[in-house]
Amino acid sequence: MSPIAERLRSIIRDPGRIRRDEPLKRHTTFRIGGPADYLIQVANRQELSGLLRLAGEESLPVYILGKGSNLLVSDEGVRGLVLSLTGEFGHLALEGSTVRVGGGCSLPKLAHQARKSGLGGIEFACAIPGTVGAGVVINAGAHGGDLAQVVKEATVIWGDGRLERLSPHEIGFGYRSSRLQGTSAIVVEVVMALHPAGPAEMQEAMRHHLERRRATQPLRYPNAGSVFKNPPGDHAGRLIEQAGLKGAREGDAQVSAKHANFIVNLGQATAKDVLTLMDRVRSTVQQRFGVLLEAEVKIWGQSPCFLP
Ligand SMILES: Cc1cc2nc3c(=O)[nH]c(=O)nc-3n(C[C@H](O)[C@H](O)[C@H](O)COP(=O)(O)OP(=O)(O)OC[C@H]3O[C@@H](n4cnc5c(N)ncnc54)[C@H](O)[C@@H]3O)c2cc1C
Repeated sequence: MSPIAERLRSIIRDPGRIRRDEPLKRHTTFRIGGPADYLIQVANRQELSGLLRLAGEESLPVYILGKGSNLLVSDEGVRGLVLSLTGEFGHLALEGSTVRVGGGCSLPKLAHQARKSGLGGIEFACAIPGTVGAGVVINAGAHGGDLAQVVKEATVIWGDGRLERLSPHEIGFGYRSSRLQGTSAIVVEVVMALHPAGPAEMQEAMRHHLERRRATQPLRYPNAGSVFKNPPGDHAGRLIEQAGLKGAREGDAQVSAKHANFIVNLGQATAKDVLTLMDRVRSTVQQRFGVLLEAEVKIWGQSPCFLP
């Protein structure tokens, strides 16, 4: 066993939670992505601190994987440690109209649990297939709501192991963004303020959101949601459609005919196919409308042609 593997085993006692050379295509909704040197299911803060210390000492890059629903991982995969927050990071506790939830908890689970407890304000998240932690970092939102509207505090662990509680102002929410993006912050717990609401109305609102998605999004094929952020005052999907790019294809990656801001994997698409298509979409839209689209999807690993 290599010295790193040995040290990992001393931090994560259950060997089943450490996977070597794990293809990340198994863990992304795009079904694309090469291997991670190590994919590790981290169950608690003590394990997380131990892994961050090890990564610092061995100069290993660290990536946090949620549900992989906003990710394009390169065909070469990524080196270092990919950490998935499981175990205690999935906790969910309601105290009055306050929710305390782990960074690894799924947004749909949170939305449904809140509804069952008669708490509203998070219904919009019922169809966002990601985690609370990633949701805070990108300020996930839909149907007029976003996490910035409900988050009161986020606990993060920085790459150097420091734990810090951040206010919404410190998180710095923006449109599908926050100041935590591109930093080493790992969101381990979030406190949200919800409000009492009727379970029947909430159920109806959630049913409506889910139905609208089924009607407008290409959910039959693997995808990573919206590929580009909406530019101010417009919709990326509208610009891409107007540029005549619906159905445009690169290998098995295709601009969806159903929703132009989705790229779908028709079967064997590679990250290179998707990146090449993204480049084409971006340059065509820029030439036609003078608007430079910004990627919403996060890109891990080599990105030879596309500069996000
Ligand atoms: C069909 C479909 C529909 C979607 N609809 C929406 C929508 O309506 N609105 C919307 O906002 N998004 C939407 N998305 C995109 C996606 O679900 C959200 O961006 C979601 O918040 C990503 O969560 P994740 O756990 O899958 O993150 P991942 O894709 O696993 O990771 C995304 C980024 O967040 C980082 N990250 C993950 N967890 C943490 C953590 N705990 N702390 C710090 N960083 C972390 C990762 O390192 C990575 O950089 C959709 C996606 C799909 C496939």
